[in-house]
Amino acid sequence: MSRSSAETGLSLEALADAADRANRLQRVTDRLAEALTPQQVLDAILTEGLRAAEARAGAIGIVSEDGEWIELLAQRGYKRPILTEWGRFPVSAELPMSHVVRNGEPLFLESLKARNELFPNLEGRGRDGHALAVLPLALEGRILGVIGLSFGDDMVFSEERRKMKITLARQAALALERARLFEAEQAARQRLAFLAEASELLGSSLDYEQTLSRLAHLSVRRLADWCSIDMVAADGSIDRLAVAHEDPDKVKWALELQERYPPDPDAPHGVSLVIRTGKPEFLPELPEEMLEEAIGDDDVLREIVEQLGVRSSICVPLNARGRTLGALTLIAAESHPPYTSADLELAIELARRAGTAVDNSRLFQEAEKGANAARALAYVADGVVLIDGSGVVRHWNPAAATITGVPEEEALGRRVHSVLPAWESLVSHVPLVGPDEALARPVTVPIVLQGRELWVSASGVDFGEGTVYALRDVTDEHALEKTRSDFVATASHELRTPLAAVYGAVRTLRREDIELREEDRLAFLEIIEDESVRLTQLVDQILLAGQLDANAVQIDLEPCDPVQIASGVLESASLHLPDGISLRVESNGVGAILCDANKLRQVLVNLVDNAVKYSPKGGEVEIRVDSEDGECQIEVADQGLGIPSSERERIFDKFYRLDPQQSGGVGGSGLGLYICRELVERMNGHLDVDSEPGKGSRFTVALPASG
Ligand code: ADP
Repeated sequence: MSRSSAETGLSLEALADAADRANRLQRVTDRLAEALTPQQVLDAILTEGLRAAEARAGAIGIVSEDGEWIELLAQRGYKRPILTEWGRFPVSAELPMSHVVRNGEPLFLESLKARNELFPNLEGRGRDGHALAVLPLALEGRILGVIGLSFGDDMVFSEERRKMKITLARQAALALERARLFEAEQAARQRLAFLAEASELLGSSLDYEQTLSRLAHLSVRRLADWCSIDMVAADGSIDRLAVAHEDPDKVKWALELQERYPPDPDAPHGVSLVIRTGKPEFLPELPEEMLEEAIGDDDVLREIVEQLGVRSSICVPLNARGRTLGALTLIAAESHPPYTSADLELAIELARRAGTAVDNSRLFQEAEKGANAARALAYVADGVVLIDGSGVVRHWNPAAATITGVPEEEALGRRVHSVLPAWESLVSHVPLVGPDEALARPVTVPIVLQGRELWVSASGVDFGEGTVYALRDVTDEHALEKTRSDFVATASHELRTPLAAVYGAVRTLRREDIELREEDRLAFLEIIEDESVRLTQLVDQILLAGQLDANAVQIDLEPCDPVQIASGVLESASLHLPDGISLRVESNGVGAILCDANKLRQVLVNLVDNAVKYSPKGGEVEIRVDSEDGECQIEVADQGLGIPSSERERIFDKFYRLDPQQSGGVGGSGLGLYICRELVERMNGHLDVDSEPGKGSRFTVALPASG
């Protein structure tokens, strides 16, 4: 059922008006729907919106991020340039737009008079219009901005008119928010893309100086007119690592500024402050006073600062693991818009990633240095042991493991005293020097490690947090040293005795005051001959021992008959046998053996000599030749002094003698058994001894059978 307009009380005229308003609003809606950016939204409001509201002029102000300011961003229809005239003004000001932003309610002023009553401070200003409608651009209680509409005449704002204008403002706010979100999303996308690119760059190389410099250049194109990166040097000073600007001439200015005014670490602003505090410094708009204060009367500085054209700046710390490694500065000058909090967030994130990259690369370099040092230590012949302040082993190189017999994995991370109980006696005599003092002097200490008797030369450096010891196994050198002194002692003794005898005999023979009988003369000549033979034997033994050490003794292995060799040796021994000694050879039909016949003869002569020599009370000396399991054993047994069990191995050492003072009156070089064992071993055999002190000794030469 339809009702006529008369019935509803609406005139035709009013209906037409309403339809017209609806049409105009629709057009605004359509235009707003097409607008993508906030600026396009503002333009649409001020063309279609103004027309729809039948206003003569209009302006739109946007509330600043901090909610403190209103910035006029668009206007239309005013004769005066109100954007520059008003620019931006505080929300707290006594102005219609500020009033609306504060209250969130539309303000309809039907005449200039009404305006002046409410805002007496505006008396005499803005004669451009009469009636005024000021509407909040509000969304869910948030005021984005404000739109002011000026009308050519005074005007009564009917309910419909008011509603229409409020609707218009609501649509405008919606469109504005949508456009802002769109723009924010675009910007976020760009920021993410930039961060991704920057991260890729930061991860591309471990040379952080180079990557940071490239990062500065990358930032210049996207984030700033200027970008600089400063790093904290080891001594705490600030080093500029990179300055970037698209114009190389401008970079020169920046470098000049740096040269003339190097950063003062105590400065109250900028890089120094950020590095000191580890917190960002954000100056969306560089306060004029701050610049003026910094410049003072310095004309050169003024010129430089003007060239740089700084408008807005962000300085963020490069932090990693709680330390500030440097700072990244972004400056908006001629082409980049002043920074917003979104830019600050991006810069913080960028600096965080850069800080981590620097830290990683430094850690890697440190680790590599450490690894190189550890690698080098793995090859040095000296044992290197690092003990920290609490006595725990922190380094134990392979040589240390060899010397001590304790593997690295058993030692690391444990207390050195539990790893090696002998440690204390090893290092207690080692004088420790500081890291800057003269070279540590090594001390040689005898020590029993894992049942082995060693001589270890040790030195130590105390570097405050711990001690590094260098250990060297000098057992061999020590043994050599000992051998040398034994040799000097033995040789001087053994040489002096026959020489004294020869000298005495010669002196006696040459005496003219006494007439020597022929038999005495012969006896002296015999002494000279015997002692010369002894001397020759001694010299021969020393030479042969030297040749054995130098591995210069030639051994010719061939099948020989051991029984024949043994019999030959006993035969020649019997020619000058002391009283009370008898000789015997025993064999059970042994086959040929593989040996050097001359060398075996030499060995047996020596063993038989010893057997006779060390049987002062006489007795039987027997050579027994046996064979067993492809091995031939030649035993030389006597019934003489015998050898205590503790000495049975040492008698084979070079120059070792059981009775060096010759209290028993038997001479010798201490080389005989050493030479015997060396020769037998070079013929692929071995020489051992068994003995019962006081009852006799039995030396056994074992050699492989031939074939
Ligand atoms: P040297 O006989 O010249 O002293 P050796 O090397 O032949 O040197 O012997 C080393 C030591 O071994 C001797 O000093 C001696 O004390 C001991 N020795 C060697 N052979 C016998 C043996 N048959 N009986 C007892 N002691 C021996």
